[in-house]
Amino acid sequence: MVRFFLIASVVVLAGCQSVDTTKPGVVGVDRDQRMMVSSEEVNAGAVKAYSQMMAEAQKKGVLDRDPAMVKRVQEITKRLIPHTVAFRDDAGKWPWEVHVISIDEVNAWCMPAGKMAIYTGLIQKLNATDDEIAAVMGHEIAHALREHARERMSRQMGTQAAVGIIGALFGIGEMGQNIAGQVAHVTLNLPNSRLHETESDRIGVELAARAGYDPRAAVTLWEKMGKVAGGNQPPKWLSTHPPHQDRINDLRAYSDKVMPLYAQAKGSVAAAGK
Ligand SMILES: [Zn+2]
Repeated sequence: MVRFFLIASVVVLAGCQSVDTTKPGVVGVDRDQRMMVSSEEVNAGAVKAYSQMMAEAQKKGVLDRDPAMVKRVQEITKRLIPHTVAFRDDAGKWPWEVHVISIDEVNAWCMPAGKMAIYTGLIQKLNATDDEIAAVMGHEIAHALREHARERMSRQMGTQAAVGIIGALFGIGEMGQNIAGQVAHVTLNLPNSRLHETESDRIGVELAARAGYDPRAAVTLWEKMGKVAGGNQPPKWLSTHPPHQDRINDLRAYSDKVMPLYAQAKGSVAAAGK
């Protein structure tokens, strides 16, 4: 048994690679990430999970019910997406998709490979402006660009060594079949670390600025979030995205830093409109 464990550990370690998923951008996010599962597996899992979830939402009658709201969200994400290439070249070719789900909860997410959702609760309860929706989606998109889900899955595999060992010895096998479920679980249920949140906040404001959305809206968004939470049970999204004062301060500093990009984008939007 000991011998089995040693051999297996070597296999698992050999499967671990250190990568930097994105270019640093103006905000300068730069950190090596340890990965034990490939992007291809995670992205395929995300695509599968997303299509199952959207089919389920359709069946329950909560998928894209308000055409005006859907159009608004689609237009915002369509403006953000081309700017993802400032952080990684391949993102331009991802199968990006967004849907509005009628759930009265302050929540939004982006799965690996650019599969996004925003809940009506977020837009309505926060009375969110376009700039604020861009701030939310920019932040969620950044989680996908940085492959935070893949990184978290890798970390879980590291801690649950036995699972990794079995997967490594017998090929992906059962773990692979289950990967869609894991991606969905990591994206929707597990809280992000402060480090992941900070990276996404910074990349998010840059994406918004590049797309011509006021990056300072990230600050007002978080302030609104704090008010909505009030003394009551905080919304699920908020509990996984804690609005500490230092976070607001960081967003303020980084939105200031990308203001020239915003000014430039606004200039070209105005020029294009002539
Ligand atoms: Zn987040």
